[in-house]
Amino acid sequence: MAGSAELGQIAAKAADDLIDRFPAFVSATGPDRELVGVALSGMARAGLFDLGYLRFDADRISAEDMKRAVSVVAALAARSLSLTTIYMVNAIFGGAFVAQMATSQQKRDVLPAIREGRLQLAFAMTEPDAGSDASAIATQAVATGQGFLLSGEKIFTTGASSADYILVVARNSGDEKRAVSLFLVPGDAEGVSIEPLARVSANAHASCRMAMRDVRLGPKQLLGGPERLGKAWPIMRVSGSLERIVVAATAAGLADAIIVRALSFAKERRQFGQSLVSFQSLQHLLVEMRTAHVGMGLFIEHALRMLAEGEPEQAASMAKYHCAEQLQEIVAKGMRIMGGRAFFSFEQMSRYYCEAPFSLYAGGTAEIQKNLIARSMGIG
Ligand SMILES: Cc1cc2nc3c(=O)[nH]c(=O)nc-3n(C[C@H](O)[C@H](O)[C@H](O)COP(=O)(O)OP(=O)(O)OC[C@H]3O[C@@H](n4cnc5c(N)ncnc54)[C@H](O)[C@@H]3O)c2cc1C
Repeated sequence: MAGSAELGQIAAKAADDLIDRFPAFVSATGPDRELVGVALSGMARAGLFDLGYLRFDADRISAEDMKRAVSVVAALAARSLSLTTIYMVNAIFGGAFVAQMATSQQKRDVLPAIREGRLQLAFAMTEPDAGSDASAIATQAVATGQGFLLSGEKIFTTGASSADYILVVARNSGDEKRAVSLFLVPGDAEGVSIEPLARVSANAHASCRMAMRDVRLGPKQLLGGPERLGKAWPIMRVSGSLERIVVAATAAGLADAIIVRALSFAKERRQFGQSLVSFQSLQHLLVEMRTAHVGMGLFIEHALRMLAEGEPEQAASMAKYHCAEQLQEIVAKGMRIMGGRAFFSFEQMSRYYCEAPFSLYAGGTAEIQKNLIARSMGIG
């Protein structure tokens, strides 16, 4: 099995090949199910789904697996946000929930298909007590004699328009707020309507408004079976930490691409008879950017170490909060270094500028991370 650094290099090459063959991974203006399928099978062939919890009947995610996933995500994020979310939603968010919660039969049905890149998942998640998205909490699961009836809405469900299954968080209206369950909702189930929303970038894998009206689900679609009814909350806490570490890695990967681009431009562009990079003010900007980027890596390493020690929550929130904020500073400096070119779509820095805020929202905003950190300090 490739180590994390090697897997990152493999991911970089796989992403470059995919983008060479299908520039729409960078430039698509709308969702494309076929293209998502091409990405997943290309990733599977390259071995990017070679993660322990997807390969074996593991019920927990090891820190080593996360280290490998983090390397993949950072490499993808430097190249294409669409490829990044395709990998994250399927291999990490979807795969992690199935690995930690599903019945043996559900694992047999889903995990090999993820690993082989022949199944598309989406994920409509919320954290009830962090209040990160009230609409998903409002998704009601009413138990019937034959199964469940789901009704509710969830905005920004990434990949929903192409998903075979959408993992939906829901709870019974009368139950306490943490009594949540997870359902495997077929993307084409009667009563599900999905509207892709245009994003400022990375539209091949669209984030969608999803509405469910009396969607009938059999008992087999309750993830983990009857024992897990209303008991998904502890797993959501763990998965929330994984998501935050991975989003931090997205920020670090994009930061690196921004620095590489800004540095190469500063070396090649000449003004007043000298290259831009010879101006000390620009050298300082580049130094600030690289120093911040190294700091991001340290935060992520710390979060991975705390994951290995079974205490990932505070470190994951700090990593995600810190990396997302640092990325906004780095991209602003990148824009400055490029001069007027940065304002034009032919220049890739303008795409980075559009993609950078993704890490501010995914996995919960900075304010939510601060709330979680405050709680972990005993003051929230
Ligand atoms: C591109 C993209 C893809 C996404 N994909 C998915 C997906 O696949 N699945 C999924 O489940 N979700 C997804 N999301 C949703 C994402 O998790 C939410 O956008 C995020 O949690 C923030 O919620 P919100 O957008 O509703 O903002 P709001 O909750 O409306 O927040 C608005 C502002 O109020 C602040 N705020 C809100 N509550 C508090 C509070 N308690 N204390 C202090 N400040 C607060 C926020 O920090 C923010 O500044 C995606 C989002 C984006 C942008």
